[in-house]
Amino acid sequence: MTAKKKILIVEDEAQIRESLQDYLNMQGYNIVAAATGDEGLQLGLSENPDLIVLDIMLPGMHGYDVCRQLRAGNYSGPVLFLTAKGEEVDKLTGFDVGGDDYVTKPFSLLELLARIKALLRRAEKDKPEEESYSFDGISVNFTTYDLQVQGKPTKLSAKEMELLRFLVAHRGQVLSREVLLEKVWNYDSDVSTRTVDTHILNLRRKLNDSPPNRYIQTVHGVGYKFVGGL
Ligand code: CA
Repeated sequence: MTAKKKILIVEDEAQIRESLQDYLNMQGYNIVAAATGDEGLQLGLSENPDLIVLDIMLPGMHGYDVCRQLRAGNYSGPVLFLTAKGEEVDKLTGFDVGGDDYVTKPFSLLELLARIKALLRRAEKDKPEEESYSFDGISVNFTTYDLQVQGKPTKLSAKEMELLRFLVAHRGQVLSREVLLEKVWNYDSDVSTRTVDTHILNLRRKLNDSPPNRYIQTVHGVGYKFVGGL
């Protein structure tokens, strides 16, 4: 498993497709690209990307039809439509067929990236989180705050519990300190990445996760990866 989110780009104009591909690649995303609606539909259903950037005016199948069929095929990730300035586009229909947002060409890559991030964040939030999780003789219930380590009740602070919950929800993914700060501490201004490290240390101690860490691994230069139960 990897932390990289997968984005499918469906765009017939090679120049736009390739620059998007390069840019989003550089931003740490895995990119799959298609030049036609049919190919996009196929890849959308077979690759199950985290998000799809979908041009509306495509040769062959119209972007709206692609989106409609993606939804019919149970694709549930966000779809971001690309439209060209001056193109006669009925935005309401776009939302009707299951689209989530629009960006008008020409767009700045920064703007597109911001929209992509916002959509991915929203999708992440909508995902139901697990109420409990067990691994290696450790069981934790995130609603009752109950933690048992080899049958022994163990107390976690509210923050440690939240951190553990986030780690478990994203197990197998490399999480940077910055992401943890953003998601668990909501960028609280009093908090630095040192705080993240301290909480990780405490969590490891309470989970009996002594070096070499079997549950919360350090990814040097980046952050942490939770692998308990994987
Ligand atoms: Ca086009």
